[in-house]
Amino acid sequence: MNEVRARMLADEVSEASPFLPWKQELAKSVRNGRELAQLLGLDEDVISDDCGFSVMAPRPYIARMEYGNPLDPLLLQVLPQAHEAEDRLGFVADPVGEHDGVAQGYLQKYNGRALLVSTPACAIHCRYCFRRHFPYEEQSRSGSWWDEPFAACAQDTSLDEIIFSGGDPWVLPDSQLQQMVQAVEQIPHIKRLRWHTRLPIVLPQRVDEALCEWIRASTVPQIIVLHCNHANEIDDSVREACQKLRGSGALLLNQAVLLAGVNDSVAAQSALGEALVGAGVTPYYVHMLDPVAGAAHFFVPEGKACELMRELHATVSGYMLPRLVREVAGDPGKRQVPWWIIPDVEYGAMG
Ligand SMILES: *Cc1c(COP(=O)(O)O)cnc(C)c1O
Ligand code: SF4
Repeated sequence: MNEVRARMLADEVSEASPFLPWKQELAKSVRNGRELAQLLGLDEDVISDDCGFSVMAPRPYIARMEYGNPLDPLLLQVLPQAHEAEDRLGFVADPVGEHDGVAQGYLQKYNGRALLVSTPACAIHCRYCFRRHFPYEEQSRSGSWWDEPFAACAQDTSLDEIIFSGGDPWVLPDSQLQQMVQAVEQIPHIKRLRWHTRLPIVLPQRVDEALCEWIRASTVPQIIVLHCNHANEIDDSVREACQKLRGSGALLLNQAVLLAGVNDSVAAQSALGEALVGAGVTPYYVHMLDPVAGAAHFFVPEGKACELMRELHATVSGYMLPRLVREVAGDPGKRQVPWWIIPDVEYGAMG
């Protein structure tokens, strides 16, 4: 057992409840940098001002970090760093131009697919998140907020897939998720339902019997797109959660974000691919970082990203190779970054 896990277990024993349901576990998430540093045995000077985007990390996720390592790839994803305060040209509050659309809770960006922001809340606050400046508070969400977007989806017969995104839809209670699924099932032209969630990775306890039950009961095929950036995020508990999800009939895919210092090496990407496939998850996308203000220190330039993909392609099985994509405001779909085309400049530079 590592030091971090031992410290957290010591906390739990005092509460005499080692097996917490996921909601209580979520409520116990670490919400300040100082506590995070203490749990990991780090000096408090590793943390900086949170720049208005608060710290949040579930304890089961923290337990997978390495004690005493300020550069741990999981820690870097949640720890506010001094770099966040730096202004960098081109890094803006709303890089994908969606704040206005999302405010209505309904977005139909891509052909055939409607994306719904089902809740503003997340189980973890990722420092590189393109929604870190999103005006979530301005959205009031009441009991059946989905009536309106679902009515719009029912009207639009060009749609065949509904995507629930967020925030993270799986922070919602199962009763609500089940109602959402049932509402989708009422729309005859919707053939697939997709969830974009990071919960099975950061809080695998979320994948409990109740959740698997409504997935199993659904008449619409379900696709679950996880968000995992590093092999260390996948431990036995995550593998078990993925196995349960697959057992309930869902297709599991993963999207990652290419992050400097976290996963911008061939070794990190191939280990991630192997860990995912080992857990029954197919790598789907690796996203170029959206240029959101405060996240410039995570940026990997396109040339380096392409070089990495070329090496990865020469290293791993084809199904472990995710598509390198970039979000471009106003585009009808994700834009693939053509890493397989070797740019002339590389030859030019040699000449
Ligand atoms: C990424 C995204 C989708 C899904 O795109 P796929 O290429 O089908 O995975 C749909 N809508 C929006 C708004 C998106 O950003
Ligand atoms: S889980 Fe996704 S939406 Fe939530 S903070 Fe992380 S990247 Fe952003």
